[in-house]
Amino acid sequence: SWDPAEWSSVSDRTSRWESRVLGLMETSIVLGQGLSGSALAWQLQWQGVRVHIVDRCSPVTASRIAAGLITPVTGRRLTKSEDFDQDLAFAREFYERVETEVGETLFERQPAARFFVDETEKAFFLTERLASLHDDVVPICDESEASSTVGFWMQHAARLRVLRYLDLTRAYFAARGQYHQADIDLSEIHLQSGEVRMDRPALSATQLYFCQGYQAQQNPWFPDIPNAPARGEILTVRIPSRTARHVVHRGYWIAPLDFGRGPESSCDFIVGATYDRENLTALTTDAGKNELLEAARRFASSSGEEAPEILGHTSAVRAGTRQRRPVVMKHPEHPQLAILNGMGSKASLWAPVSAKRLLEMMSQSEALPVSKPRSKSLTTLAHSIVRRAITAGDLAIDATAGNGHDTLFLAQCVGEGGRVTSIDVQLSAIESTRARLEANGIINVQLLNVDHGQHLRRMADEHQQAKAIMFNLGYLPGGDKQQTTTPESTLMAIQAGLQILSNGGVMTVTAYRGHPGGQQEAAAVAELAKSLPDASVTVDMIPGSEDNNESPVLFVFRR
Ligand code: SAM
Repeated sequence: SWDPAEWSSVSDRTSRWESRVLGLMETSIVLGQGLSGSALAWQLQWQGVRVHIVDRCSPVTASRIAAGLITPVTGRRLTKSEDFDQDLAFAREFYERVETEVGETLFERQPAARFFVDETEKAFFLTERLASLHDDVVPICDESEASSTVGFWMQHAARLRVLRYLDLTRAYFAARGQYHQADIDLSEIHLQSGEVRMDRPALSATQLYFCQGYQAQQNPWFPDIPNAPARGEILTVRIPSRTARHVVHRGYWIAPLDFGRGPESSCDFIVGATYDRENLTALTTDAGKNELLEAARRFASSSGEEAPEILGHTSAVRAGTRQRRPVVMKHPEHPQLAILNGMGSKASLWAPVSAKRLLEMMSQSEALPVSKPRSKSLTTLAHSIVRRAITAGDLAIDATAGNGHDTLFLAQCVGEGGRVTSIDVQLSAIESTRARLEANGIINVQLLNVDHGQHLRRMADEHQQAKAIMFNLGYLPGGDKQQTTTPESTLMAIQAGLQILSNGGVMTVTAYRGHPGGQQEAAAVAELAKSLPDASVTVDMIPGSEDNNESPVLFVFRR
């Protein structure tokens, strides 16, 4: 699912490269070298920008004590973020490129285990999550407990050696005279047209990026950034007989202290993390220590190991947001200022891709206030879900051909040995789809100018089976907006579609709620989804935006 074009802003030296060749070298200041600042600094450097990093070099910061865990399924609700796969692919390429710069391994893909904390979590996993996560997790069964499921492996987990990465990044820029240790008073930052200046160290630049983490709260240029910091404590322990090298989660997590450096013999581990939103100024606390020691003991005793010995205890405040989205923002009036912040516990994963987004924003000429959450592309999501279910040679159905985008996509997925049936009530849609297919040399599509409810019903009566069925409701883009799908025929078609869906098959229904009748249609599909009589079918409902009830909704039915 990784699109190489995504990488272009990092590897292509476009206009910035040209200005460099012309001798007009751009300079940027990155204020704060945690995970966000480092990701920005590298990408700027690769774009040919001269970067100056300014950092006060505190020995303990949220980034420096971070465990670097990249975990696909998180939280008590066991959710996998929609962008996880793309974000991970980007992070991996980014860290691998840093590895070639610094000559050391920093990033590793490592399956991680998560065990249920209680029966409720287990039941939730089995009933609500297992079906949709089947590509990402492998259940762990305990043979001594009649093979009952006790947790799951996350195949696509990964880990970053954060401290080493930060230290090597610092060394790289320091060796080039581009690293300055200083505790900056923001009143010493001066803006002039198109430029930003700093007194100590004396630097001037075309851009300044604020990446100070938790401290960003006091930034006068970005006073309103969403910020919900939390303090986390981490314990370092020694468990001589523990041999497991993978990360284990069970309410808390335990991970080897260091990894990726040859023979893995160390018996030192870190255990984390506490979560405290109130007591932000505290250093380490006894309560935190006891909580983590207890967690460490449980990890050790469940694998028959001796009691852990405490080696160290740290605490730092992470900058997060309530929406659990990074703050990626260009100043609305001062185009030379931007902020990258609020990564919470996902900084190792999110920093590279968020830095890339910020640099894309900065290269746009007009200043845009862009702190809003990334909008989800439900079409892209639907495609990636369907792509995983389809194998070459399958039969797939596009129940709403429209302009043929989904039909073309399905035809490409099933390949020459497969077949696609593409349906639309409007002749203009069929013609538009035909033109698109011809332009792409596609010949294995049956185009039908009929009602989808009736046709799918006929296919169900004939016991035909399809691996993927896609619905994209609403009106034909560029056509008559009055001619929309209607709840009656949509429900009939979806019900027939469920009968046709083969085992392992997936049916996606994208409903639009912004046009007249759209809300009612989406509600009717939601109603149907809630009352599915067939236990072998699961359904996920994914709104395009949590806080906009006119955003589209994607329903994913799986058998
Ligand atoms: N997936 C399409 C694409 O990639 O371009 C866009 C589909 S468009 C949003 C919805 C389509 O559903 C319209 O072309 C409309 O004619 C079609 N439609 C509406 N009611 C239908 C019905 N009862 N049976 C089949 N198609 C229908």
